Amino acid sequence: MTALPPLPQERRLLTPIPGPKSQELQARRLAAVAGGVGSVLPVFTARAGGGIIEDVDGNRLIDFGSGIAVTSVGASAEAVVRRASAQLAAFTHTCFMVTPYEGYVEVAEALAELTPGDHAKKSALFNSGAEAVENAVKIARAYTKQQAVVVFDHGYHGRTNLTMALTAKNMPYKHGFGPFAPEVYRVPVAYGYRWPTGADNAGPEAAAQAIDQISKQVGAENVAAIIIEPVLGEGGFIEPAKGFLPAVRQFAADNGIVFVADEIQSGFCRTGQWFACEDEGIVPDLITTAKGIAGGLPLAAVTGRAEIMDAAHAGGLGGTYGGNPVACAGALGSIETMKELDLNARAKHIESVMKARLSAMAEKYEVIGDIRGRGAMIAIELVKDRTTKEPHPEATAALAKACHQEGLVVLTCGTYGNVLRFLPPLVIGEDLLNEGLDIIEQAFTSV
Ligand SMILES: *Cc1c(COP(=O)(O)O)cnc(C)c1O
Repeated sequence: MTALPPLPQERRLLTPIPGPKSQELQARRLAAVAGGVGSVLPVFTARAGGGIIEDVDGNRLIDFGSGIAVTSVGASAEAVVRRASAQLAAFTHTCFMVTPYEGYVEVAEALAELTPGDHAKKSALFNSGAEAVENAVKIARAYTKQQAVVVFDHGYHGRTNLTMALTAKNMPYKHGFGPFAPEVYRVPVAYGYRWPTGADNAGPEAAAQAIDQISKQVGAENVAAIIIEPVLGEGGFIEPAKGFLPAVRQFAADNGIVFVADEIQSGFCRTGQWFACEDEGIVPDLITTAKGIAGGLPLAAVTGRAEIMDAAHAGGLGGTYGGNPVACAGALGSIETMKELDLNARAKHIESVMKARLSAMAEKYEVIGDIRGRGAMIAIELVKDRTTKEPHPEATAALAKACHQEGLVVLTCGTYGNVLRFLPPLVIGEDLLNEGLDIIEQAFTSV
């Protein structure tokens, strides 16, 4: 295998964005690829690594998206490439359910070590986040012998039928795709910025409302699982206000309900901890992971208390590709990199740089209503008026577009489409991080 020369960690714009070669590919794509599959930015990738995405026209864009919080170690991390390449040459697949292999077991061991709590843990591996969430529900139902599943306002859990039901937002995730799976109940979450009586009251009040609704409308004894993202991702990078998660977690424990932390976006050093729920000392019964776990290779997991994980009968869990050996090798390379480079510390540093710069921008630009998030999972919520907090999705789209034109990949999110989110690779260089923030600041001036 001939190694590629290192990808220069410098922004470079040779053509307008998207360039002519990207436009050609986009025309072919529009003719051949289903319209339901969108792209944030129709710039076709040639290479990516560190904090840079190089396109087919030779432009180099700064990456504040990490392929949606996936390439935390970069898109071509040395340890991921080395381990996955060696595994590719050895064997690509046997199916763990036919003849198993060590990599799968090693990933399960690593998950037991890294996830919160010192109880006995087991894992099952899958291909996508949605599949992990579906399996967490299967496992919780098998363990509790109950059916109801409780989820939260602004929650996102995937695009399969069950996970669409678990997801809050209609457009684009659910619209026209029903009917959805039954026995799913949605309750309030402590969205501090938009809580009617203020952020300070949001934690206890939202927890009381959620618990009251579960008790009165569902019946705690009928609930198999409560599933929550410790930092809500697609819903707008909402950190549930202080006290909310511990209260809900305690309610689950008191009522024999399996508490599932969906850490698919927030996990694996993204928020400056291995898992975001550690910030409030939460020990979930089950934890779902994907995205950042394997340096870009498709892998997902459910990890949790051994007695819960073992509740499903033999043969009840699995899948042809679940825990593919190349993806497992990628995960081991990714975890190796996270430890070696102390990417939790790096995420915390990114937070301090970003929040300082964004706070300075908020003093100048009234459209910034809120700055929030943890580690390298940071967002700004944009509003038409700071008093009414009316969402400003148009400004959000315009700002994202202005950043894209200047060669900075940023993403939007939020129930109201008014959140600009920043998810740089944790290995991004200091210069690129600051240059990306300069571009955001310029975008405010120009929009
Ligand atoms: C992305 C995401 C999922 C779905 O993962 P896929 O790999 O896209 O199926 C589920 N939960 C959360 C919190 C996510 O961010």
